[in-house]
Amino acid sequence: MLSSKKKYIVNGNSGIKAQIQFADQKQEFNKRPTKIGRRSLSRSISQSSTDSYSSAASYTDSSDDETSPRDKQQKNSKGSSDFCVKNIKQAEFGRREIEIAEQEMPALMALRKRAQGEKPLAGAKIVGCTHITAQTAVLMETLGALGAQCRWAACNIYSTLNEVAAALAESGFPVFAWKGESEDDFWWCIDRCVNVEGWQPNMILDDGGDLTHWIYKKYPNMFKKIKGIVEESVTGVHRLYQLSKAGKLCVPAMNVNDSVTKQKFDNLYCCRESILDGLKRTTDMMFGGKQVVVCGYGEVGKGCCAALKAMGSIVYVTEIDPICALQACMDGFRLVKLNEVIRQVDIVITCTGNKNVVTREHLDRMKNSCIVCNMGHSNTEIDVASLRTPELTWERVRSQVDHVIWPDGKRIVLLAEGRLLNLSCSTVPTFVLSITATTQALALIELYNAPEGRYKQDVYLLPKKMDEYVASLHLPTFDAHLTELTDEQAKYLGLNKNGPFKPNYYRY
Ligand code: NAD
Repeated sequence: MLSSKKKYIVNGNSGIKAQIQFADQKQEFNKRPTKIGRRSLSRSISQSSTDSYSSAASYTDSSDDETSPRDKQQKNSKGSSDFCVKNIKQAEFGRREIEIAEQEMPALMALRKRAQGEKPLAGAKIVGCTHITAQTAVLMETLGALGAQCRWAACNIYSTLNEVAAALAESGFPVFAWKGESEDDFWWCIDRCVNVEGWQPNMILDDGGDLTHWIYKKYPNMFKKIKGIVEESVTGVHRLYQLSKAGKLCVPAMNVNDSVTKQKFDNLYCCRESILDGLKRTTDMMFGGKQVVVCGYGEVGKGCCAALKAMGSIVYVTEIDPICALQACMDGFRLVKLNEVIRQVDIVITCTGNKNVVTREHLDRMKNSCIVCNMGHSNTEIDVASLRTPELTWERVRSQVDHVIWPDGKRIVLLAEGRLLNLSCSTVPTFVLSITATTQALALIELYNAPEGRYKQDVYLLPKKMDEYVASLHLPTFDAHLTELTDEQAKYLGLNKNGPFKPNYYRY
């Protein structure tokens, strides 16, 4: 899920070319715009920087002072001012959030324990650009425990938890981020992480590709010392592959987005939990006995269907692919065409990654109070634009909830205007983020320690053995007891007793 939230669109253009133009236009980033100027700039910021994604409530009071953090003189308790956060005094609240997150991030905590002996990241200077949340803080502090020095900026102008950023700054991490940055602030923060006297990064951890792009444009010489890039998002990975194809990638890069554990957790397990969370928070509805149609029976659809079935809903599935369709049948769901059930269902959920799955015709035929939402990547699945016609009235009844009312009084309940429901209206479980963060940490360790020549200037997937290691680090949480192959069995299967246990083409 986290992966798919990022599609890079800059002023209607997508892809790296648009990005390069975009950064070229930002040469004056050091000049401080007026407040109005800052706001007006934000329209052209990358989508990945604006997609809101928060996994914990913020303590930040809306009555917080309006002074830009860039105009404040702040020091942490050790006298360092090498950071820029909203309010360093919020550090204590942030520390509590971090401690809560630690409980659900067992693998990172295990890595820290192991690091008491060896420090696989000793000498690593990591510059990072990710969401700054409690879970990221656990990752950063783990990287620190593994021996790395880190400097960090936010990959999203809205998602920073100010108190967490403050806690990190208080414990000595140079963090440059706050919730509600302007576009100019966004690039300024990235630059403050990179452009430092006496410190040069040798590893990049990116989520969305903005940091990597900034270094390419502004400080290409830095790549002489950089050993590798670890990238989390679909968008960032896509841009790395483009660079590689154009022969312009000058260091090895690790695509952690497509590692098996991350995909499974983001798509199947996360959606299985967050579909209910998103629906409940927005509508307070009861699921038992409700008729639901789920469009698409891929990983996300399977998760949604399983959760709703478990709650006692009557679930219908639509599919275009006979294999997934047959899976739906075998799992006990009625496979239908949307037209066949559209008049009777209480909830419509799209998760196809496709467009115009729910059309105006479908919307016209829905019954009164039908809830319509999307769990797919982009807001193309439901034809929301077709509802913006004069005869229909829109009523915003709650944050992220609109009633669209027909002339005869029928209304449908549209959630998050057809954008990803769980990302817009609920939180992402920390355990899911733990998988991602552990994958990132291991990818950094792998690239940093790889002997010369193991990785070329190309984009790689995390080796399967490490993917398996990410999973194994999470098993103790469940007191799970993994069976070990005997020598005889290993020989019979032609496997190493320590893995990898599956070929790369295995589908899980
Ligand atoms: P997937 O490819 O496994 O599944 C999509 C399914 O939809 C496929 O089986 C496909 O055959 C089917 N489909 C396509 N067009 C259809 C149509 N018109 N009617 C019915 N079925 C149709 O993909 P996935 O991993 O399940 O992801 C689905 C979408 O959700 C993607 O856009 C993905 O980026 C997004 N996603 C969201 C989250 C989240 O947190 N909400 C997490 C991961 C992925």
